[in-house]
Amino acid sequence: MVKKGIMHIEENVKRLRGINREIFKEVYTISTGSGRLIIPEAMIAWVKQTFGTTRIVENQKIVKIMNNYTYEGAIFNELRAKRPVQSVKTDVSKTIKSSIGDSFCVPEQKTPYDPIGRLKNRFGGITASNISKYDEYHGLVIFKEHNPLEASAMSIASYILLAKEWIEKNHKKDKEAKYPFIMWNCLWRSGASIIHGHLQMLLTRNHHYAGIQLLREAAQRYHRKTKRDYFKDIIKAHEAIGLAKRIDKETALITPITPAKEKESWIIYQKDKHPELTEELAMRIAKLVRNYITKLGVESFNLGIILPPLDNSWKGFPIIAKIIDRGSLHSSTNDFGAMEVIAKHSIISTDPYKVIEKIDKL
Ligand SMILES: [Zn+2]
Repeated sequence: MVKKGIMHIEENVKRLRGINREIFKEVYTISTGSGRLIIPEAMIAWVKQTFGTTRIVENQKIVKIMNNYTYEGAIFNELRAKRPVQSVKTDVSKTIKSSIGDSFCVPEQKTPYDPIGRLKNRFGGITASNISKYDEYHGLVIFKEHNPLEASAMSIASYILLAKEWIEKNHKKDKEAKYPFIMWNCLWRSGASIIHGHLQMLLTRNHHYAGIQLLREAAQRYHRKTKRDYFKDIIKAHEAIGLAKRIDKETALITPITPAKEKESWIIYQKDKHPELTEELAMRIAKLVRNYITKLGVESFNLGIILPPLDNSWKGFPIIAKIIDRGSLHSSTNDFGAMEVIAKHSIISTDPYKVIEKIDKL
């Protein structure tokens, strides 16, 4: 029986047998330790008030996990979630409302468009060209909804499909631009500079973006060594410890044990032939986002849809949609510090078991 808690991961993995055990041994290095400290008399009352008890503070359990192929790394200490964090008084809905009437509210007059023209859909989504580009092909899907948290699953799915159409249209004109990426930075904690709901899409040449290229390299190295499929095994490993849900034969939801930041989850869609970003998949991604907003209370997040190259040259590489919580809109403390930016081992306070149990069937 799996113990539902990331702090029990070593025990959970020890209980596994056969291939699941082998995958964990091959892919992950997991270690558990305890950090000890002494609380002076004068601090005891404050510690009890803040953390409930002194025991869990004096002897803190820390779980450190690393993926030996991708070098994704996470450190879990549940005490971190309880630590005091400075917050700023922000009236979030007032801040969002005060920007109504921005340029994205009137995109046809106040946003530039791409050489392929404007694409629109029946949900009120419309494309625009990004005014300061990351890449040669860098567009936007501007939502009908000013407040991105108010977009329904149907609308979100339609915007994702409009982004796909934009990618296909640009690729048709320039076959060498074949590496696509779709992303959504939602509200200011996530890096979004504009409040009004919008997705961004990129299409690049020569090679995929660095993190995606690294992931492919890791999967290939794993396959060379084990003759097995990396992505199937990652899903299998998470399923064995209760951190994956199968959606259908080709699709799974996982809350990874090496998240980049809080409450991360992935939808992995893999086919033998080139995986297409279908209406069904777009809807599942959209529903996942709505679960984050309504069930997990997430206000600001990054969503990234990793798409393999359009010429089908990466055989077996899946579509992966990743969503990550970027913290409270009231918090004045940034969630990325030197551990994340330089040491690249993320400090995580949310238990992935608490995330997956809140997500409905997609
Ligand atoms: Zn607006």
